[in-house]
Amino acid sequence: MSLFSAVEMAPRDPILGLNEQYNADTNPNKVNLGVGVYFDDNGKLPLLQCVQAAEKTMMATPSARGYLPIDGIVAYDNAVKALVFGADSDVVKSGRVSTVQAIGGTGGLKIGADFLKKVSPNAKVMISDPSWENHRAIFVNAGFEVESYAYYDAAKRGVNFEGMLASLNAAAAGTIVVLHACCHNPTGYDITDAQWDQVIAVVKAKGLTAFLDMAYQGFGHGIAEDGAVIGKFVAAGLNIFVSTSFSKSFSLYGERVGALSVVASDKEEAARVLSQLKIAIRTNYSNPPIHGGAVVAAVLNNPELRAQWESELAEMRVRIKAMRQKLVDGLKAAGVQQDMGFITSQIGMFSYSGLTKDQMVRLRSEFGVYGTDTGRMCVAALNSKNIDYVCQAIAKVV
Ligand code: PMP
Repeated sequence: MSLFSAVEMAPRDPILGLNEQYNADTNPNKVNLGVGVYFDDNGKLPLLQCVQAAEKTMMATPSARGYLPIDGIVAYDNAVKALVFGADSDVVKSGRVSTVQAIGGTGGLKIGADFLKKVSPNAKVMISDPSWENHRAIFVNAGFEVESYAYYDAAKRGVNFEGMLASLNAAAAGTIVVLHACCHNPTGYDITDAQWDQVIAVVKAKGLTAFLDMAYQGFGHGIAEDGAVIGKFVAAGLNIFVSTSFSKSFSLYGERVGALSVVASDKEEAARVLSQLKIAIRTNYSNPPIHGGAVVAAVLNNPELRAQWESELAEMRVRIKAMRQKLVDGLKAAGVQQDMGFITSQIGMFSYSGLTKDQMVRLRSEFGVYGTDTGRMCVAALNSKNIDYVCQAIAKVV
């Protein structure tokens, strides 16, 4: 008998499974709107100019690769702090933020989850209903019980904000609430500024712990605009967690560049928190890899490259918005009766299209248009060449 006789086959990752199906599809018109990746108007994964420039400079003076410190490249961690909280913010200047380099946004979430399990071992975790697939799994694997708070209202095509507030109000003190800082994945619906104020008031009044997942800073309304919500939590005097991902904003998916920032009450507390974050990193993977963090630090800390990055990020953001409008117009032109205008009120990479599972299956099997069964489509994969085909296909299944 083998050690592994009783090992069960784990369910396939739904998105990666979709990718495999897409790759095997022989339809010449096939379009992959499943995976959350930004493609340019030629359907290509961009390699940003600012990244190429930074790499060129790095390659000109190649350096040896010793171990990084456990918490990563100092210049990188400082650049993340400045980006997320503002370089001149009191919270950064007073030394209350502990930031560590992490293996993507996923790594930031995992390090935060492991640390939280030590700080609040009996707390429950709440994630939005629905949420990014991995949120639940990451916190369950860190040993937490995970529940949902109300979020999406299918009938209203928007956020069930009363439901969300009610869920948070009913949560026990100490509950860890995972919030999408911007560009909610999968729905594309964010809450308004005024609604954030209400959420913050409940988090404060009920003694909840906010964990803000910032995987799309700059993909919504702008770098500062998307980051503003963090400042609101800080202004409320809360101890928060923020995970950062540069996968999308730098188009550096495979380099696994992310971070975790924790806001403590004072400098001394921040030092103790940092020491524990380092334990979490040390026992997971010892220390982070160099290249991606070095590239991002080089870009963020150089005014010229930074300006280039901002303009390249803006280009991605603007193109996604244009595609949303084209989708709405194209669906109308293709004869879709119902008003699809809600697509332009969504933000970020994704759209909850409102299509049923049956319709999504038909889109795949009859037209080679791949989105998830939940009706989620990645609008960042639409372009001027595939948009008409996608609109025609959707019009035929609705
Ligand atoms: N959080 C959310 C909401 C995401 O959509 C993603 C990426 N799909 C991540 C975290 C993880 O990002 P990364 O690839 O940098 O680990």
